[in-house]
Amino acid sequence: MMYDVIIIGAGSMGMAAGYYLTEAGQKVALIDAYDPPHEEGSHHGETRLIRHAYGEGGNYVPLALHSQELWEELEGKSEKRIFLKTGVLNFGPKDSAFLDTVQKSAQEHNLSLEEMTAEEINTRWPGFQLESEFIGYFEKNSGVLFSENAIRAYRTLAEKNGADLYTNTRVHAIETTADEVTVKVNDNEIKGKKLLITAGKGTNQVAKLLQRTLPLSPTRKTFSWFKTEKTHYEEGMFPGWGYDDGESTYYGFPSVEEAGIKIGRHDQGHPLEEPEKLEPFGTYPEDEEETLAFAHKYFSKDIQLKEGRVCTYTNTPDEDFIIDYLPGYANVLVACGFSGHGFKFSSGIGESLAKILTGREPAVSLESFRLDRFDH
Ligand SMILES: Cc1cc2nc3c(=O)[nH]c(=O)nc-3n(C[C@H](O)[C@H](O)[C@H](O)COP(=O)(O)OP(=O)(O)OC[C@H]3O[C@@H](n4cnc5c(N)ncnc54)[C@H](O)[C@@H]3O)c2cc1C
Repeated sequence: MMYDVIIIGAGSMGMAAGYYLTEAGQKVALIDAYDPPHEEGSHHGETRLIRHAYGEGGNYVPLALHSQELWEELEGKSEKRIFLKTGVLNFGPKDSAFLDTVQKSAQEHNLSLEEMTAEEINTRWPGFQLESEFIGYFEKNSGVLFSENAIRAYRTLAEKNGADLYTNTRVHAIETTADEVTVKVNDNEIKGKKLLITAGKGTNQVAKLLQRTLPLSPTRKTFSWFKTEKTHYEEGMFPGWGYDDGESTYYGFPSVEEAGIKIGRHDQGHPLEEPEKLEPFGTYPEDEEETLAFAHKYFSKDIQLKEGRVCTYTNTPDEDFIIDYLPGYANVLVACGFSGHGFKFSSGIGESLAKILTGREPAVSLESFRLDRFDH
């Protein structure tokens, strides 16, 4: 059997790419070290935010909007809950550069964005208790993605279209010629015309089999669910939100399906020498303290920790993504380095990867994610 495309890493990006490739009639093999969705990568913990007015840069907005359309399309095709329109409030001090970029992104791309004072925020959502010098920007059309459901949905659809999934499968060696790739797994060989590497934090383990190393730093991150007697935080009553004051960045979710309020800190974290070894939640005092202190300061004093988990960001030096051919390999495409903000784009990136691998133009240009930006 000769596959059109072999994908190593069937998580957020890989599973979406696998689905869109099968939609284009390609014969696809998806290889994963685990059984996605799972807790060993970057996609667990049920939910991810999708924001459109992008504080990380206006260049992401077209990809965010296209991805949003694809999420809604996926929801129509699957029986699972994929998107919950909670709206997202970005807030912080008036001089936050992140908030400035949120505002400029919205202006540049004509997005609906409501500027609010702290008082207006505290009145509309009584769960907030923001300081009077804060401002916020509320976008009503964005919200919460069910990340694990999305991966399950893409998996079901891809398998229905004929994709072969090799789960709990380790890659030992990769051999390539100009028109063929052989991936050696367990005691089997998988052959294809092209290879896509979307192995998240494991990307360099795979790239090393082809004598390449990419500028990636896997970083241990935590997130937590909190409980409170107050009902202000239930879905339908509280938005998704992001906070940035130039020194620290936090994000969070309403209590979805009564799971509790979820909060994470986006900046900082512990670099991982061995990406597979994650110290459990609670290893460091800040695992619990940072988000709890944030919740007490800006939400409510009665909030208590319910549960915490660990997860991994795979950071690039500039925190922008890497989507390019592996240097020296014209038939090996790689998409990695999603630096803790990639999930929302995985529908759009998966579709784009499928288009690139089948010689078509992606709906949104991915040029800014090329590797040669690190050359100078
Ligand atoms: C705590 C946390 C909160 C986040 N919040 C948000 C958010 O609100 N919004 C947002 O947009 N993004 C968010 N992100 C980021 C987002 O989840 C990631 O950018 C995205 O999931 C990365 O996708 P990926 O496909 O690269 O990795 P993954 O989804 O982890 O997929 C990689 C896959 O490769 C497999 N793999 C690894 N090594 C090998 C190997 N050697 N052989 C075979 N398979 C292998 C893994 O098992 C995994 O299934 C968050 C991330 C974390 C950790």
